[in-house]
Amino acid sequence: MNKKEKFFGVNNTNWGHKWGFRDSGFIVNEDRSVTFAGNRYPICGKKLSKFIPFVEEVLGVEFKIKPKVEELDKKHVDEAFVNHDFISELRSRFNNDRFTEEDNERLLHSHGQHSTDEVYKVLYSKLKKFTDLVFYIESEEEAVELIELAKKHDVCLIPYGGGTNVTNALRPPEDEHRMIVTVDTRRLNKIESLDKENLMVTVQSGITGKDLEEALNKEGFTVGHEPDSYEFSTVGGWISTNAAGMKKHRYGNIEDIVQNLTMVTPSGTINQIKPLTRSSIGIKTQNILFGSEGNLGIITRATLKMHHLPAKSSYESIVLSDWQTGVQFMQDLSRSNMVPASSRLADNLQIRLGQALKEEKSGLPKILDKFKQFVLFKVKGFDPEKFTVAVFKIEGSEMEVKTQRKNLENLAKKHGGVVAGENTGKSGYLATMVIAYIRELIFTQNILGETMETAVPWSKINQVKEEASKLIVKLHKEHNLPGKPFFTSRISKVYHTGVCMYNTIAMCYDGVENPEDVFTEIEHIMRENFIENGGSISHHHGVGKLRKDFMPNTISEGSVEMIKGIKKNQDPHNVFGVNNNIVMD
Ligand SMILES: Cc1cc2nc3c(=O)[nH]c(=O)nc-3n(C[C@H](O)[C@H](O)[C@H](O)COP(=O)(O)OP(=O)(O)OC[C@H]3O[C@@H](n4cnc5c(N)ncnc54)[C@H](O)[C@@H]3O)c2cc1C
Repeated sequence: MNKKEKFFGVNNTNWGHKWGFRDSGFIVNEDRSVTFAGNRYPICGKKLSKFIPFVEEVLGVEFKIKPKVEELDKKHVDEAFVNHDFISELRSRFNNDRFTEEDNERLLHSHGQHSTDEVYKVLYSKLKKFTDLVFYIESEEEAVELIELAKKHDVCLIPYGGGTNVTNALRPPEDEHRMIVTVDTRRLNKIESLDKENLMVTVQSGITGKDLEEALNKEGFTVGHEPDSYEFSTVGGWISTNAAGMKKHRYGNIEDIVQNLTMVTPSGTINQIKPLTRSSIGIKTQNILFGSEGNLGIITRATLKMHHLPAKSSYESIVLSDWQTGVQFMQDLSRSNMVPASSRLADNLQIRLGQALKEEKSGLPKILDKFKQFVLFKVKGFDPEKFTVAVFKIEGSEMEVKTQRKNLENLAKKHGGVVAGENTGKSGYLATMVIAYIRELIFTQNILGETMETAVPWSKINQVKEEASKLIVKLHKEHNLPGKPFFTSRISKVYHTGVCMYNTIAMCYDGVENPEDVFTEIEHIMRENFIENGGSISHHHGVGKLRKDFMPNTISEGSVEMIKGIKKNQDPHNVFGVNNNIVMD
C-alpha cells in the first residue's frame, strides 16, 4: 500500500491539536450568535443566540466578535534529535510507510488534550519538548521488533492511543536525553474475533470507541463503554488510564469490561491464556496493567465483554428544588439498585449553560416552555437560580426500562421533584459531544477553562463543592483577574459509597502574561482543595505528569515500592521512559 493511503495522525478528518473533527466547531456570527459547523450532531447548523450573552453574564467580561488572541500560523517544533544507528536499522527492517519524521506529526504526538499545559501552548505559545519520530505499528510482531530495536540502541518509546488524555501523559519528559519515538497504535484497529455465544469481542488496541461500536452495532451488539471522548480514544488508552464511560451503571467501567489483554514489554508478553470466565489463579498479571499510562509496554490486544443491543432505549428527567435535594435523590437512586445506564445531576449553572446551547424557540414550543416555567417557578415554587435537573439514559428490556422509570417517578415524589419527561432528558445528552469544542471558542476570548473530575464519598459532596466555589473566588481575586470566575458541578456517576463529580472552572485572562501557566497553577490548587475536602486525585482521567505529586499521600510507601518493582522487572532499561505517575524515582 502507498504511504498516502495509510492512516496518519495528521489528516483531513481530525483537527489534530484542537479537539475533534475538522468539519466541526463553533463559529461566531456577526450578529453575536454562534453556530456549530458540520452535520455530525443534532446541534449543527442551529443559530445559538443565547451563548455569548451567557458567557458575558457569568464571566463578567466582553465577548468580542473578532478573536482577542490569534492562533499561531506556524507552530513551534524543535529540531529532532536523531540516533543514527537506530534510524539506519529501522530503515533496513521496516517499510518506510511505518514511520515519519515530519515536524507536524512530531508536534501532534508530543501532546494530549490538557487544555492549558498542552493545547493552549501549541496554539498560542510553544511546547518545551518534542518526540523525535512517530512509528505506526501494524502488528504485535512489529511491537516486539520495535521494542528490541529500542533496547539495543537505547531509544525511548512512548505508546500513543487517541491522544485524548488530559493529564500530560503523552508529553515527553524534559530531562529525556535519548531519541524519543512515539508509537501510534491506531493502525492496530481490527476486530479479531466475535464470540457471539459467550458475548466476548477481541480487538486490537488501537481501535477507537466509535469504530468499535459502529462495527458491533451492525452485528446487534455493544460494549457500552462511552467516555465522552469515545469518538477518538482507543481501547489501549482506556485500559492505560482506567477510563470510565457515561453508561457505566449498565455496562461497567473499563476494568469491569476487559476480560483479558496483551501487553508487550521489554521483558516479555503479559496475558492470560484462557479460560476467561472468572478465574481464581492468584495475582492476575493483566489486572496490574490498568492505569499503566505507557510506563511498561505496548498494549496490543484486549478481549472485552459485549452485550446484545438493548431492546429499548429512552430518556427521562427530573427537576428538583436545589443541589442538596438533588444529591439526596441521587443517593436514594444509587441505593435502589435500579440505576439507569447513565444518571446525571447538573447544578443550576450547568443547566443554564445547557440552555445557552439551545436555539431560541418561537411559536408553540415557546408557549409550552413558558407554561413549564410557570408550573416550576409559580406553582411548585422552585427558585430559578437554585433548581437542579437530573437526567437519565435508560437502556434494557421493556421490563427493565419500565421498572427503572417507575422507580424514578417514586423517588421524584419522595423528594418533591417534578418528572420533566423524555425530551428534557434527551436534551441533557445532546450537547455531550460538542461541549468539548467550547474550549477552542473561548480561548479566542482569553478565557481558559478545564473540567476536573474527582471521586467523592456521599458525605463529602457538598463540602467539596462549597469549598471549591469559595476558593476559586479567592484565587481569582488574588491573581487580579478581570470579571468573575466560573464554577459549576455535576454528578455523572453514582456508586454505593459515593459519586464521580465533574467540576468545570473557567476564568478570563485579559492582560495576563503566560495565562496558561497561571491557569495550570490555579487548577493544581483547586485539585489540592478537592483532595483536602474528601475528593480524590482522579475518578478516571488518571495521574500522568499533572497529578503525580499528589500520589505519595495517596498510596503507602509499600505500594509505591511495589509499583517501582514492577517497572524495574518489566522495563529494567526504562525503554518506556514517558515517566508518568510514580514508577520512577
Ligand atoms: C473531551 C474529552 C472528553 C473525555 N471524556 C472522558 C470520559 O468520559 N471518560 C474517561 O475516562 N476519560 C475521558 N477523557 C480522557 C481521555 O479520553 C481518556 O483518558 C482516554 O482513556 C485516553 O485514551 P487515548 O486512546 O486517547 O489515550 P492517549 O491519550 O493516547 O494515551 C493515554 C495514556 O495511555 C498510554 N497508552 C495509550 N495507548 C496505549 C497502548 N496501546 N499501550 C500502552 N499504553 C498506551 C499513553 O502512553 C498515555 O500514557 C476525555 C478527554 C477529553 C479531551
